[in-house]
Amino acid sequence: MEHEAESRNFIEQIIDKDISEGTCKEVCTRFPPEPNGYLHIGHAKSILLNAGLAKQYGGKFNLRFDDTNPTKERTEYVESIKEDVKWLGADWEDRLFFASDYFGQMYEAAVKLIKKGKAYVSDLSAEEIRAYRGTLTEAGKEDPSAGRSIEENLALFEEMKAGKYKDGEKVLRARIDMASPNMNMRDPVIYRVAHMTHHNTKDEWSIYPMYDFAHPIEDAIEGITHSICTLEFEDHRPLYDWVVRELAYEYPPKQIEFAKLYLTNVVTGKRYIKRLVDEKIVDGWDDPRLVSIAALRRRGFTPESIRKFIELCGVSKSNSSADYAMLEYCIREDLKLKKARVMAVLDPVKVIIDNYPEGQTEELTVVNNMENEDLGAHTIPFCRELYIDREDFMETPPKKYFRMFPGNEVRLMQAYFVTCNSFIKDETGKVTEIHCTYDPDSKGGNSPDGRKVKGTIHWVPAPYAKKAEVRLYENIVDEEAGVYNEDGSLNLNPNSLTTLSNCYIEPYAADAKAYDSFQFVRQGYFCVDAKCSTPEHLVFNRIVSLKSSYKLPKQS
Ligand code: ATP
Ligand code: MG
Repeated sequence: MEHEAESRNFIEQIIDKDISEGTCKEVCTRFPPEPNGYLHIGHAKSILLNAGLAKQYGGKFNLRFDDTNPTKERTEYVESIKEDVKWLGADWEDRLFFASDYFGQMYEAAVKLIKKGKAYVSDLSAEEIRAYRGTLTEAGKEDPSAGRSIEENLALFEEMKAGKYKDGEKVLRARIDMASPNMNMRDPVIYRVAHMTHHNTKDEWSIYPMYDFAHPIEDAIEGITHSICTLEFEDHRPLYDWVVRELAYEYPPKQIEFAKLYLTNVVTGKRYIKRLVDEKIVDGWDDPRLVSIAALRRRGFTPESIRKFIELCGVSKSNSSADYAMLEYCIREDLKLKKARVMAVLDPVKVIIDNYPEGQTEELTVVNNMENEDLGAHTIPFCRELYIDREDFMETPPKKYFRMFPGNEVRLMQAYFVTCNSFIKDETGKVTEIHCTYDPDSKGGNSPDGRKVKGTIHWVPAPYAKKAEVRLYENIVDEEAGVYNEDGSLNLNPNSLTTLSNCYIEPYAADAKAYDSFQFVRQGYFCVDAKCSTPEHLVFNRIVSLKSSYKLPKQS
């Protein structure tokens, strides 16, 4: 395969080299989630990177559940992860694997190490192991159990497997180097006793492998060529390499680290999201304020927009954080040409057109998307009683207010010129009814005689509009302001959710179903909420507002 060197990211450069040197025949990558929570936008980066490389090199992509720690893992998470990976467009075909399916092989691998004198059973407690490990400036101390014979180690490990010991009573350690400057190499624990029920293997095992031992074996078994992970594993690479070397795999996988994706001022970590869910601060893992994949989908983001975002973020070795506004830019760009524009009134006030015949209705035709003719047109009824947004009317307007006020003529979008003559207030001073007259010669919103109006406002026909609930969102926790309060509670934004329950949308959008989305004129892009919306009670999530001062960063 020929590639231009300058446009290649550092991972592609490594793979190119491995291919040209003949150490890699067919690229095989994997995404290895631990099923202990839902996936988030950061995981999307890993998924798309791994699946993308496999596709680009004509190789294979595996979805593998890294389910070696039974305490926090759930089948619910397995299902949600599969759904999210599929939705993002990463296709694992029939290559779905579970690390727990390799428990037998991992056990055999441990036995192999014991037989080579490279692993031993230790009686030290977790605390003692920590104390014996030493510090960054001080070498560790030899484990008192390190001198056991191979036969004794084999027998003890067999007993660990047979369930003879309590949790924490014995562990299996790799024999590497207690004086290594890399703490991970100071005889790391590779197997522990744990009497737990596993979501897949149930009560079959009473010992479980540690991540650093299990992961390279999983990769090697599956024939992974490039095991791509995030930077925090850089210090673990020598151990990864030690495991594949000692076990003498014919095609040893290669670990490559890249920087995690963070969003500025947005909580991305699984740990934080889980806490928001567990404390019931949000409505589940898919609450539209979160950046889990499920939440982004429910909010109305598309796979295309997320793929574009990840592409713009690029792949690097140094930690940095992407602007949430860039994600918003990507969804706006994606929806711009795909969605119909409709009128919705979020805070309604009634307008009565006194000179429009009572009982009369006419159908006006409006184009769905002015930038994309292919989306066609729809009709909207126009009649004597309408709703407009409360903020589009003022009793005594400030300078430069061009919308509706007494004596002023405005354009009702796509309809007619109207002039406000009077209005009615209730006892609290709230405007309840606005009276106007219309100019029948201005149909379509066109000036009949060249006279100009400065304001154009949107509206819906009162008797035909469908009532709906609209939800507006802001950040739930602002990282810049501090994720936690002094007492350890989360520093929540009280305005993260605004529910508007008395909105009206034009009839064209009245039959909208889950995940359908529209541009609401002047308000943004909105998506039918898949969890709460029903045909009787429509609920829309605001995906993103229309405008932003955001500019794409210059690509280097
Ligand atoms: P979190 O950091 O949110 O707790 P995790 O790393 O514990 O997530 P895993 O299920 O272990 O979640 O991760 C699966 C894969 O996704 C790993 O290869 C991990 O490196 C990668 N990954 C996790 N978070 C990010 C991120 N923010 N950006 C890129 N890749 C990530
Ligand atoms: Mg993890």
